[in-house]
Amino acid sequence: MRNQGVGSWAARRARMAPDRVALIHEGRQHTYGEVAARANALAHRLAGLGVRRGDRVAHLGPNQPGFLDALFATGLLGAVFVPLNTRLAAPELDYIIGDCGARVLLWTPGCEATVARLRADARAVPLGEAGGTDGGTTGGTTGGTAGGAAGGAAGGAAGGPVDVDVTDAETCMIMYTSGTTGRPKGAMLTHANIAWNCVNLLIDVDLASDEVTLVSAPMFHVAALNQTVLPTFLKGGTCVLTGGFDPEATLDLIAAYRVTCLFGVPAMFAAIARSPRFGTADLGSVRSLLCGGAPVPEPLIAAYQRRGLTFLQGYGMTECSPGALFLRAPESVRKAGSAGTPVFFGDVRVTTPDGGDAGPGETGEILVRGPTVMAGYWGAPAETRAVLGDDGWLRTGDLAVTDTDGFVYVRDRVKDMIISGGENVYPAEVEAALLAHPAVAECAVVGVPDARWGEVGRAFVVPAAAVEAAELLAFLDGRIARYKIPKSVVFAETLPRTASGKVVKARLRAPVPDRRNP
Ligand code: ATP
Ligand code: MG
Repeated sequence: MRNQGVGSWAARRARMAPDRVALIHEGRQHTYGEVAARANALAHRLAGLGVRRGDRVAHLGPNQPGFLDALFATGLLGAVFVPLNTRLAAPELDYIIGDCGARVLLWTPGCEATVARLRADARAVPLGEAGGTDGGTTGGTTGGTAGGAAGGAAGGAAGGPVDVDVTDAETCMIMYTSGTTGRPKGAMLTHANIAWNCVNLLIDVDLASDEVTLVSAPMFHVAALNQTVLPTFLKGGTCVLTGGFDPEATLDLIAAYRVTCLFGVPAMFAAIARSPRFGTADLGSVRSLLCGGAPVPEPLIAAYQRRGLTFLQGYGMTECSPGALFLRAPESVRKAGSAGTPVFFGDVRVTTPDGGDAGPGETGEILVRGPTVMAGYWGAPAETRAVLGDDGWLRTGDLAVTDTDGFVYVRDRVKDMIISGGENVYPAEVEAALLAHPAVAECAVVGVPDARWGEVGRAFVVPAAAVEAAELLAFLDGRIARYKIPKSVVFAETLPRTASGKVVKARLRAPVPDRRNP
């Protein structure tokens, strides 16, 4: 094959073992041969719609085989895959589709209502349940662009293998960040970025060719796709895909398919542990629990340990494809709360504001360098320069402290740190202390201007039971230093969150209206 990119992976796997099962979805098995054939057919279809090397192809849909058909088909043409978050509202999707200038929007059944509301200028093409397209050119449009002719082939006769000489330095996907601190940014991830991220993951996690990986977390986020599905694919294992997460269904699927590897975020593992069946469910097949995005709380680590299971967790971000730090099994209990040490092909520094290395115990910003660091932000050279500089070290905007053994503990984002009376306060630490109170269901702490201290903390609390602000503040006294205790508490029914569930602190920093003086 001439194609050196991720788009060729289905065809390469099919060349080695076409009959192995690549995917299981809603009880149906899909072999590598089938996935490769569908991807090839879809590549022809996209070429017929005018998609060429470098063009952007967006995809809107939950986890299902068609998602991977779309990824590989796009890659076969040397075009750029842009996975869209199904939880975003139409104007948010319009922003991303417009920002990346997608030529085609592939969408799966269930997304009709959203697609009908889109205004962005991209050709909307429905994908069938099991991938491929729904035939014909009647996909409709967003923004009114008329469809191109169907058929046609890229590199060979119509229906023959599509094989464009894509190099691994070309952009494979534009993955948008979660938009926690502002508008989502389009991180350009090259084929090499993604391949090296898979290598790093496989060095740390012994995924095997008989792996059966359960993926309920959405593949439109970087971790499920690049950190779980593609490494399993590279080994020739099987991914069980579900369109959503349900703790009871997860336990059933683990037993039914003898699942060996489970990927999720802490909230998903917590929901499974709360199931009345958790203590007795058949988990005998499970070899690895992969968890990312946030540290796994110690009680959760203990709950799974009682079932003989250990978490593998890490720290990463979209811009790093995503893995940067990894906490390996032997240290997962001894170093609980840490995000670990650098991945094999990747280097991490924790730096002070003057650019020097922070010593053990000293807080600084995490910098990452290596073959998984993105090529840049799409269409945003100034933002790219601001985070990548000239030295190849990615400025993550996250704060951390390292212990004397070199283990990194992520503290908070630089943007969220509060400076109160000259002291640095890390909201994540205050939030963890507040969450220990039984009446606190959810909370978020932000800095607000204060005449005396410069800035003081304000806690937003979603109560689980009736509680007074004074009681919560008294609860913190003695648990954390006085200067870290918020000066005010605002009770709320919900916290503003991004589609991926992260609290949007910028919205909480806006002044709270004074009820006495509306
Ligand atoms: P945006 O960049 O648009 O504001 P985002 O940073 O939330 O959104 P992602 O790339 O999905 O978008 O998330 C990466 C961030 O998640 C990291 O920068 C870090 O703040 C947080 N994070 C990831 N892993 C961990 C971890 N193990 N512990 C604590 N925080 C983590
Ligand atoms: Mg970010």
